[in-house]
Amino acid sequence: MENSPIGPAMIVHGGAGGRALPADRPARRRGLLAAVTRGAEILRGGGAALDAVIAAVGVLEDDLYFNAGYGSLLTTDGRVEMDAAVMCAERSPAARKTAIRAGGVVLITRVRNPIRLARAVMDLTPHLLMAGAGAERIARRAGIPLCRPSELISQRARERWIQTREAIGNASPETPPGPAHEHGTVGAVARDRYGNLAAATSTGGVPGKLPGRIGDSAIIGAGLFAAARGAASATGSGEAIMRAGLCRIAVAAMARRDPSRAAEFALQALEGAEAGLILIDAKGRIGFAHNAPAMEIAIFTPAAGARHLAPPSMLAVAD
Ligand code: ASP
Repeated sequence: MENSPIGPAMIVHGGAGGRALPADRPARRRGLLAAVTRGAEILRGGGAALDAVIAAVGVLEDDLYFNAGYGSLLTTDGRVEMDAAVMCAERSPAARKTAIRAGGVVLITRVRNPIRLARAVMDLTPHLLMAGAGAERIARRAGIPLCRPSELISQRARERWIQTREAIGNASPETPPGPAHEHGTVGAVARDRYGNLAAATSTGGVPGKLPGRIGDSAIIGAGLFAAARGAASATGSGEAIMRAGLCRIAVAAMARRDPSRAAEFALQALEGAEAGLILIDAKGRIGFAHNAPAMEIAIFTPAAGARHLAPPSMLAVAD
């Protein structure tokens, strides 16, 4: 790896959807800042973009104010089932090529930090995406502790579950998943000082989801993507994001647009479904856009340091 004149940068999101409850906002703000600060420490110290996004997402998975890891939303039958994935584009200047690697997990019920398990799938297996018990077997090999499924359920998530059940009329097994009105899926994208790029996304899914439902967050090209041109992480209505292949569109759009314009462009593919995107390009320029009532992010650049932002809603997506 060779040094680049361009500095490291990172952007982290805490989900797009309805506005967070006023009482939750300070804690969510602190959580996002803690996540980006952790990632920034790694990048400033010369660490890899991959390590930075895993660490930042791990901080948010441990924070019950976010819908990932501990505190994830529950399925209609009251269980936590989480999806997470990581993808990186690593430069090899000597060979003049970029190596693309990825790993993901879905329907995880016994690991507190699914993003670490996603990385273990990438590092320790020939596979890209693994589910449930088979994926959790990799945890043992990777030294990632297993927990009881009930240890992942926060009091807060249980209360939300009761509210959701009441709202959808006592949850018949055929009740479809609700819209992504909840804040809280998490993601991060980063560029390190060597020009490597990485994206990570982790979620407990959408409120009112049926057991076994898998969203976009661990699906390459939908909930995340990384290539030589840039990296992206998405949040919002998973079914619409998967149909569109949102993050792949966004990264391709950076060929002709800066990251924020590319994010706005990609959101048009959703035909009105709610979502948000964070992007970083090969030069370390960061950008974001959303079409939901709210989305919170935190950024790190060498010039600005670590900062929390609550961008205004962007209901009319520009061309
Ligand atoms: N995209 C996530 C999912 O569908 C939910 C979210 O981002 O709020 O699982």
